[in-house]
Amino acid sequence: MAEIKKELLIIGAGPAGLGAALYARRADIDFEITEKHMPGGQIVNTEFIENYLGSKKESGFELIQGFVGHCKELDIEVKEYSSIASIEPVKGKNQFKCKVYDSDHTYKVSSIIMATGASPKRLNLKGEKELIGSGISFCATCDGALYRDKVVAVVGGGDTAVEEALFLAKFASTVYIIHRRDELRAVQILQDRAFENKRIKFLWNTVVDKFVGESKLDHIFIKNLEDKKVSRLDVDGLFEYVGYVPNSKLVKDLVELDQDGFIVTDQYMRTSRPGIYAAGDVRNTPLRQVITAVSDGAIAATVMDKHMRGLL
Ligand code: NAP
Repeated sequence: MAEIKKELLIIGAGPAGLGAALYARRADIDFEITEKHMPGGQIVNTEFIENYLGSKKESGFELIQGFVGHCKELDIEVKEYSSIASIEPVKGKNQFKCKVYDSDHTYKVSSIIMATGASPKRLNLKGEKELIGSGISFCATCDGALYRDKVVAVVGGGDTAVEEALFLAKFASTVYIIHRRDELRAVQILQDRAFENKRIKFLWNTVVDKFVGESKLDHIFIKNLEDKKVSRLDVDGLFEYVGYVPNSKLVKDLVELDQDGFIVTDQYMRTSRPGIYAAGDVRNTPLRQVITAVSDGAIAATVMDKHMRGLL
């Protein structure tokens, strides 16, 4: 098995990983950037990015195309569909051995930037697993158009739930937002838009109790948390947006994680283990946005370079 030696391995090519790659290139670090799917991460499924400076309502896909194009101009090539299977510290050396799934090579590196992002959290209810992809979805941008003039539900009250409900309201005749409290968590501008939208209806203090359907979702049962009443709601599709779980499994035994599994870093993106940095949604950050992810990546690569040169 071939061993590729590099100074730095960046794992993940979403905004955080690509931000790190840009700064690693500018610092002339010998690095590789790997991505288990295509570059982009979660934002490729976002209809509009309106809170990244200079972005004039581009889609997430368009914004990422710009990021990747910029990296290509600097001869940064993302190793796509390349998934890191394990990270093992090399005994007695400040190095890590990284195995790659289904591959004929491993990496030996002195530093790692974990830019592995986060994945949608599931409700984990009865009937859910069987109906994912058959009425239950995590991606309105991918599946929204299937529900033209139909009734859909969105679960959650955060930015993602409200943003995606607004997108779905372009197609569906009714979009129920099912939220466990009587107040949304989403930012005010999104709340205002949702309250103004006549197709969006709110089911407050309510949770999904059960999914029902044979080969496809037919209806759900919802529970009102105040009076504990359970009732049937006929929906053609349901979109779950109840937060994210960090993709931190690779380093769970190597670095400190917080109670929800996010990687704990300091303001320099350093983890509890020298040589391992984390950037973007996978770390314990107060703000998970493209703008902060890119910035985290830039800081991680810059700090790593300074550390290698003995400047920090
Ligand atoms: P989030 O902010 O964690 O919100 C998750 C929502 O799901 C909350 O309303 C929560 O209810 C609800 N929830 C969690 N577990 C639940 C359960 N088991 N059953 C029912 N409801 C449940 O997640 P998010 O909206 O995906 O956002 C993640 C991050 O991305 C945030 O930092 C957000 O600001 C950012 N983001 C930003 C944008 C944007 O800037 N346009 C767009 C999307 C996401 P409670 O409120 O009661 O806790």
